[in-house]
Amino acid sequence: MDCLFCKIIAGDIPSKKFYEDDEMIIIADIDPKAKYHYLLIPKKHFKLLADMTEEDATLLGRCLKKIPTLTEELHLQGGYRLVVNQGDNPGQTVPHLHVHILAGQKMGWQPA
Ligand code: 5GP
Ligand code: ZN
Repeated sequence: MDCLFCKIIAGDIPSKKFYEDDEMIIIADIDPKAKYHYLLIPKKHFKLLADMTEEDATLLGRCLKKIPTLTEELHLQGGYRLVVNQGDNPGQTVPHLHVHILAGQKMGWQPA
């Protein structure tokens, strides 16, 4: 499949990996928008929350639950923001569901 994140998961494109198990990887974003900016990427390819099966939903739950277990490694002590871009309006550029993890600084923009 011609998907950037599937290629990163397969190891065909190098990335700075912070965590990996059978279901997910957490890597550094190549173009950080905060002092610390990671991408949590489920290994299963799907683009949108709208595409998820019930099983995918529990997978995503496990992905989110993993984040606070990595507080030290990811420098999340001061808190963090999760962003999931979905489709065109927010500007999703990679069509493989991923969760941005932003941390390490005060964030000026309050999107919600
Ligand atoms: P989106 O805009 O789809 O929510 O987020 C895609 C993210 O992937 C962007 O923040 C972008 O910087 C990041 N990205 C794009 N290409 C690469 C790459 O080759 N390696 C890594 N680590 N991140 C990438
Ligand atoms: Zn993919």
